Amino acid sequence: MSILTVALVVVALLMAVATAYLIWEVVEARSKARAWIGLFLLAMMGEMWVAAIVYLSSPSSSSLIAGLAVSGALMVASLVPLVIALGRSRRIDDAATTIGPGPISLGLGAGVGLASLVLVNEFLMSWGLLTAGGGLPASGATLAVFSTVVNSPWFLFTMAGEMVLSAVLLRNRVSRVLLVFLLVQSAIMLFSPTALGGATWPGLAIYVSSALMIGLFVYLFEYIYRHRQFAPAFGSYLVELVSVYGLMMAGVFVWQYFGDGTTFAISVVLEMVVVYVALARPDPFRAPPGEPWQLRPHWAFALLSGVFVAEVCMGAVLSVQLDPADYLGAFPFLPLAGPPGTVVFNALSNGFWFFATAAASSWFLIMMGLEMGALVVFKFRETKNLENRIRLLFLMGCYAAFAVFYPSIYFALAFPNAPDPSTVAVLGWPMGIGSYPLAIGVFGTVLLTYVVLGSLSALFGRRVVCSVFCTAPLMYQGTAIDSMKSFNRSSPIARKYLSSRLSGAYSVTMGLVMVALVGTSLLSYLDSVGAANLYIQGTDPSVFFFIASFSVAWYVLFVAIPYAGNYNCVTMGWCYTGIIAAAFQKVGTFKLKVRDKQVCRDCKTLDCAKGCPVGLVDMPGHFRQKGEFRSTKCCGVGDCVEDCPYDNLYISDVRHSIRRLLGRPETRPRRISNPHVGVAHATSAGAALSGLGPSNEAVLLPMAPDPTGAPRRRSQTGAPSHSV
Ligand code: SF4
Ligand code: SF4
Ligand code: SF4
Repeated sequence: MSILTVALVVVALLMAVATAYLIWEVVEARSKARAWIGLFLLAMMGEMWVAAIVYLSSPSSSSLIAGLAVSGALMVASLVPLVIALGRSRRIDDAATTIGPGPISLGLGAGVGLASLVLVNEFLMSWGLLTAGGGLPASGATLAVFSTVVNSPWFLFTMAGEMVLSAVLLRNRVSRVLLVFLLVQSAIMLFSPTALGGATWPGLAIYVSSALMIGLFVYLFEYIYRHRQFAPAFGSYLVELVSVYGLMMAGVFVWQYFGDGTTFAISVVLEMVVVYVALARPDPFRAPPGEPWQLRPHWAFALLSGVFVAEVCMGAVLSVQLDPADYLGAFPFLPLAGPPGTVVFNALSNGFWFFATAAASSWFLIMMGLEMGALVVFKFRETKNLENRIRLLFLMGCYAAFAVFYPSIYFALAFPNAPDPSTVAVLGWPMGIGSYPLAIGVFGTVLLTYVVLGSLSALFGRRVVCSVFCTAPLMYQGTAIDSMKSFNRSSPIARKYLSSRLSGAYSVTMGLVMVALVGTSLLSYLDSVGAANLYIQGTDPSVFFFIASFSVAWYVLFVAIPYAGNYNCVTMGWCYTGIIAAAFQKVGTFKLKVRDKQVCRDCKTLDCAKGCPVGLVDMPGHFRQKGEFRSTKCCGVGDCVEDCPYDNLYISDVRHSIRRLLGRPETRPRRISNPHVGVAHATSAGAALSGLGPSNEAVLLPMAPDPTGAPRRRSQTGAPSHSV
């Protein structure tokens, strides 16, 4: 490292410390005059760099004079608001009211002003240091200068240091959760892949920042699960944060693919604004909590969208980093050139295939598995019912095996000559065991798969597929996502699919999906025997249908849970795999049974119905009348069993039928002998129950979350609710 570089590093460090100190001065100021002085000093620091840039860009005596003149003029200009503020302050001083007992609260304008000053300072300093070190592009185009400056280590590392120092200095003003977010944000900023070249840094930075982001998202989801209510400012901050991370990961992909760091630079600047506005205005974060987020579908949708965009882009980034030839080879990028119609079509096609290839990549699935799997582990810790615990363990194991191990590792090793799965006509049931290497030909493959999973569904219910084998339940079942099942009852769209009845909307959706499945499968078969030659964007029709359904539409509808409800692949009937599994379940013995009908008749809580993520709200009526409940929509997650406060419910399948045939009791008796039915366990204070119709079927109206903000299961153990 040259002496010049060492000197510049020292300057950058001193600037970071000085800036963090001045931020602290402004935020902790007990009078407006003091805050203005801090802002003025920050402006002075930036103005000093203007002179340096003008001179260093073309060193000469005239540029030195020009630089000093410009910065002098700027300093005089920035004195004007300071003088006005001091004058006002003196008048208030005379009334002896200016020094308050605590720090003044900065308004939104002052907060944005502080963030802007810090940003401009940082930019000018990095520009100056880059100019001194000769690192600026020769062209000097505005966007190129902006991108080079912001993507430089001078900007990124200094900014990360400043963020940490500011957060630590202001730790007593910000809540613990906000401090955690700010520190992790600083670390993510530090590990910016664009900061340094070379063979090691970009890869290391991508892995570390991805790991930090995954950890942050897990923390975020668990936080909102435990704290259903928080200050509105904190809710806005979370949405801004995840949106910026979505843009940031998209920026890294653009940088990898096209070598252009402008998008990433824009995301860095936006992240800084989010951080410094939060640091400058900690008081709104301590405001009284707003309404529970489960009553705010737009907020939940924005949060899920931001997280999901970040994850899809992260999946693409990791895939490119680890195996660029393989991933980019599978991504059929069409040129954005030609007539407008062609450009629009190519852009849509690129978007579709970017999404599909990223969502189907092993790294995306691993990342989602870690993130959503962590939430399932949290749920596992709260789950009491043994059968449910075993199911959750199977679910996590199947995700690891069927989403990652078998397709990426096992088949590649055990069947090196097997056809590429993306070229095999799948005809309807490729999820789960994907048996094409085990049986020869299309029909052998399909038959084997249907025999195995069809038999299991008939014997144990569709839960074999929809609550274990499929990768979907891992996404739906984690604590925070599971708590979004309240949207099944509050969203107008989701309510069209509520209860076990197969509504008109359900029948239409299911019919269209099955027609599409049969149609694309037929085309696929005709192609395979040479009777037709029809491919969609160069892809086998049934493979394309599979990709469109499960690598694109599934994720879009996952993000749309606040409008379409949780487990919407089951409730709406748009997943053909689920429909086929449901058909096999119908011919089997799978059902829900209660141990004592009278307990259900006396039950006032109806917690079984509230706990169902599929929205089968009519089950208590069936329990009261017949003591059992069958529905093709029931996918056996068992939350109803878990949530019944009287231990009155169990899932009955082939095992219980055999016991019955052998003359043995199907299940053990209820553990709770004196449940005080109708008095105990009225936990969901916001639940509105009504509509006991002639058929004695309870209809649950939209359910508000527990107004205490505590999760329902945890509220039983007395976990407190906090706001930030
Ligand atoms: S309906 Fe389809 S996507 Fe949903 S859990 Fe079942 S198999 Fe998976
Ligand atoms: S919560 Fe339990 S007791 Fe109440 S209706 Fe449901 S199964 Fe019956
Ligand atoms: S009724 Fe029970 S087992 Fe069936 S889907 Fe709902 S919670 Fe799961």
